Parts: sequence; C-alpha cells; structure tokens
Amino acid sequence: MYFCIRDDDTSFFTSPEDLERVYGEVSQWGPISLAVVPFHRAGTSGVVPEKFRGRWSVHPLHENQPLVDYLRMGIAQGRFEIMLHGYHHDEVSDRWEFACGHDLAQRVAHGRQYLEDLLGATIRVFVPPYNSISRQGLRTIARAGLHLAGTTGVRRGWPLLSRQTWALWLRLRRWRKSGGLGIPWILDIGDHRELPGNGVTPAASLPHNQAVFDSTLALGGVFCVATHYWEQGAASLHAGDPSVGEHLRRLIDRAIADPRVLWRSVGEVISTSPMVA
Ligand SMILES: [Zn+2]
Repeated sequence: MYFCIRDDDTSFFTSPEDLERVYGEVSQWGPISLAVVPFHRAGTSGVVPEKFRGRWSVHPLHENQPLVDYLRMGIAQGRFEIMLHGYHHDEVSDRWEFACGHDLAQRVAHGRQYLEDLLGATIRVFVPPYNSISRQGLRTIARAGLHLAGTTGVRRGWPLLSRQTWALWLRLRRWRKSGGLGIPWILDIGDHRELPGNGVTPAASLPHNQAVFDSTLALGGVFCVATHYWEQGAASLHAGDPSVGEHLRRLIDRAIADPRVLWRSVGEVISTSPMVA
C-alpha cells in the first residue's frame, strides 16, 4: 500500500516551529506534502492569527524569511514536498477562491512559478482552498499540467462526455454499494489525476480511519492522510477518540511498522502509482 501525508495551509502565517513541532521527527520516516499558500489574504481561515483576522491584507510568503529558509532546507533533504494551495486562499466575498474566483489561470501560473522560484521546488499537485473547486477551476489546473489532491466527481467537474468519466463513476458506485470503505485508488480523469484524502481533523473518527487503512492495506491501495498542522492540539468531536495529533500519530505508527506500506510524497504517488481507477 502507498501511504502519504498532505498538510494544508502553510503560509506567511506559519512559523518554522509550528511545522517542526508536528513533523520534525515524523518527516525522518517519510516525506510530508505541504499545501502552501503563496499570497495569503488575512480573511477567516483558521490559520490566520486573531490580530490579522478579517483585515483582508495580502501577505506574500517571502516576507517570512525564517519559514522560507526552513522550507528550502526541508525540501533539499527530501522531508517536504510543496503543493499549490490556491493563491490568496481567502476572498473578501467569503466565497471559495477556486470555486468562483477570477483570473484562475493567472493565479495558478503565477502562484506556482513564485513558489517554485522562492523555495527551489517542483510543484505537481494543486489543493483547492476549503476543498472547493469549480468545473472551470478544475479545467484550469488540468491545463497547467497539475493533478488534484482531493476529489471532485461528475457533478463538480469530471468531463461529462468522456467514456472514462462514466466507467470511473460506475466503478466507485459498485465499490460503495458493496460496502467498500474510503476510495483506495488514484482516480484518472484523463487530463489529470485525483487523490482522495482521509481527513484527520476534529470531525474525523479514528476507528473509521483505522478501518479504511486496514481495508486499503488488504487491497494494496493508496491511503492519503489530509490534515492541518495548526489543528493537531484540537480535541476530537467523538467521545473517547484521542486528539487530532494523537490520531495522526497512531496512523503513522501503523504505516512505519508494516513493511507492506510504502510512504511517498503525494506528488510521487499521484504521478507514478499503479493503483489507478
Ligand atoms: Zn486551506
């Protein structure tokens, strides 16, 4: 089974200590794929500190030099992969940037080039802010040659006239009807691939994620964690479940203890894994 970790919201508002606390030790076992916001707008996202919240000012990543140095070192050591997480992330209209924003092609091209130049990284994957992307947004990232971390579907972006779309739709429908847990494959939509994430958040259930992990392992599929470094201290909403950080740790412990698990970056898994539906 392929295993990967996607962590969203690294931006101007992130300190190296924030990432080091969660991933310093963990990233020696395998790479962490960070979804990075190039020019974060100080809106209402959970990552924006109180004193900036709702000011709507724009904060380029390069104005946080300690973080840039830290990321460059981590990338060079193979501990971090960089993915593109929107452009501003938050919009004054409070509508999701890639579900309704303007100039999406320009934002993708400029945001990607900016991060690649600043951090010395190659970007292969796009992560939509708030996991929301329109049909037009999806076409934009596919045209830019990027894959998607997350899933859309027939109603939200897969090409309706493609035979591949409907074959995939049917396969997923059968999988769910037969009681299949999670989505243990990479989805090939033709012009891009999508990698479904398994949320590790306060709303996620540890027993459920462990069951998905076991079922995916038995199939030799792909299990991608989707989490936020800034939420690791949060309690679970499920009685009896551990904190978000402990939840993540238990999944990681299973991954590193089992020789059948290959831990890779999101970009590597999505581009090269043979587990494609
Ligand atoms: Zn985000």
